[in-house]
Amino acid sequence: MSVLLEVENLAKHYPVRNGAILARQVGLVRAVDGVSFTLNRGETLALVGESGCGKSTTARLVLRLIEPTTGAVKFKGTDITTLDGATLKGFRRNAQIVFQDPYASLNPRYTVGQTISEPMEVHNIGDAASRKARVEELLKLVGLAPYHAQRYGHEFSGGQRQRIGIARALAVEPDLVVCDEPVSALDVSIQAQVVNLLRDLQRRLGLAYLFIAHDLAVVKHVADRIAVMYLGRIVEIGEKRALFSNPRHPYTRALLAAIPHPDPSRKGRVTPLGGDVPSPMNIPPGCRFHTRCPFAQDICRQQDPVLKNGVACHLADELPPAGVDFAGGLA
Ligand code: SF4
Ligand code: MG
Repeated sequence: MSVLLEVENLAKHYPVRNGAILARQVGLVRAVDGVSFTLNRGETLALVGESGCGKSTTARLVLRLIEPTTGAVKFKGTDITTLDGATLKGFRRNAQIVFQDPYASLNPRYTVGQTISEPMEVHNIGDAASRKARVEELLKLVGLAPYHAQRYGHEFSGGQRQRIGIARALAVEPDLVVCDEPVSALDVSIQAQVVNLLRDLQRRLGLAYLFIAHDLAVVKHVADRIAVMYLGRIVEIGEKRALFSNPRHPYTRALLAAIPHPDPSRKGRVTPLGGDVPSPMNIPPGCRFHTRCPFAQDICRQQDPVLKNGVACHLADELPPAGVDFAGGLA
């Protein structure tokens, strides 16, 4: 497998200014605070964490919708943070996004056909007739009848709208699709259909996905590898099976324990994670998870653990076995 995307020590810090005296900086939000990972062609890497952990900011940095404070994003070996003009446009064609909210992401004044063909127009692909044919082909690809091209977004259900959003992302034949919580706004009964569609399209088209999610249950069926984020950092990264069967970071364990168990009689075994996520303006010293970690020691309050062998925890090799009984099997 060849590497498609390399993210190196990426950070996004936002200065917070005093409302009255705009020039005075009163703080720094460290939304993304030193993130590194790779994504191979045809692979799915899930970025998982609670709201505010920096996963969506990471996704927007990867797509260069925002500029990083420091770090590099290499796509096919080229740092896209330095591109402009035609080379940036070429990258944009290759890296598309499927948004979380299929209700908000479709322009109500556009027909489905216009919505799907817009990226082709932006990138000067084909003429009107060939784009029309391509729209019909894309609708079939995502499991919708071609005549839907004439209809408007509001005439469709959430699951159908997300199919339209996927068709639009695929119109310009990207290598990378960032999926920003693509099923979390959908009914549970529809989620599996959309996840299955994404997997099927990946196999047929060789797509790589950066898949953003706030819990591990969703990514169980879609990820090859998983990166768990907490307060702007990756605290654990690894193959899905290893991460589910042998979670090493206490935060990963807590996220796994939070997945509802299919056997309700075992409910009592789940220990929910206590406390709130600290503000990204006020990240705790030492290990940023120490304020909520049941295993925290003095060293944790003093030294910031680095990500080593896929885990950022001083005690990773000393913790007792996780004992997480994750029923339901792995896809
Ligand atoms: Fe918990 Fe310490 Fe590991 Fe941080 S370094 S996760 S506080 S045990
Ligand atoms: Mg988000």
